[in-house]
Amino acid sequence: MRRASLTVLLAMFSSSGAMAQGTVPEAGVAWFPNTPRQGAFAYVVVQPSDPAVHEVRGAVDRVPLYFERIGDRFVALGAVQMAAPDSVPIVLWLEYPDGRVGTQRSYLPVVAAHFATEQLSVASRFSTEPDSALRVRIREENRLAREVGLKAQETPPLWRRPFIAPRDSRITSPYGIGRLFNGELRSRHWGTDFDGEMGDPVRAANRGVIELVGDFYYGGRVVYLNHGGGLVTAYLHLSETLVQQGDTVARGQLIGRVGQSGRVTGPHLHWFTRLGRATLDGASLLSLPRLREETYIRSR
Ligand SMILES: [Zn+2]
Repeated sequence: MRRASLTVLLAMFSSSGAMAQGTVPEAGVAWFPNTPRQGAFAYVVVQPSDPAVHEVRGAVDRVPLYFERIGDRFVALGAVQMAAPDSVPIVLWLEYPDGRVGTQRSYLPVVAAHFATEQLSVASRFSTEPDSALRVRIREENRLAREVGLKAQETPPLWRRPFIAPRDSRITSPYGIGRLFNGELRSRHWGTDFDGEMGDPVRAANRGVIELVGDFYYGGRVVYLNHGGGLVTAYLHLSETLVQQGDTVARGQLIGRVGQSGRVTGPHLHWFTRLGRATLDGASLLSLPRLREETYIRSR
């Protein structure tokens, strides 16, 4: 399906924008695409009724949003957590040049997603529990990963063009798939697996700054890429990393090679995408409407 242009999307705006509850509606608010699934990314578009509003801040389900202005609208990358109910709260702060701030609370609709399940093999049941030294290492690695997320929330959005898959290969395991043992949900797949042989190329999904290159217990050789606006993409189990912390990389740039480092049974790329603290479906990032690209074209 062809991606809808900004013009088309904004023409749809008036019919799809849910007006705020309350006595004085101050802004129309809408998702693009209109009805995101649980676990999916979507742009949040805000149109203040008063053109004097010069800045918008906000949060969806307590995940902060980083708004940028496009004409008389404000656009931010938002997302719906996997366990979200059929609507999520959005709070907005509409700021005026004289310092006045209007607060608006409303709800955005969410569509339930179906996540497939698979049976855990017997071997996985007997995989060893980490000892205390290992638990310390894993905790530290999780802390480093969380720090990248915080950095991304302090960085303005660095991308303009649509996101691309880190590999051209087929997806061998999608986001969200549930792992069952004896009919009981034991874990979920918090990422997207791409097929690959040792040494195959892994590319940056979009422009950003390399925030972390490490050798992790579970993830093996990892690269964490900060795209700004709260968004992080990460590339795991690499055989080789080709970037360093602090590098600014272009969309599609070769950043590493497929491997089987860390806790895996064979070579593949595990790719995950995170906004704030939520790990979301990377596939939905790849099919976002082209709102930001059009901003870029207009601003030149
Ligand atoms: Zn995976």
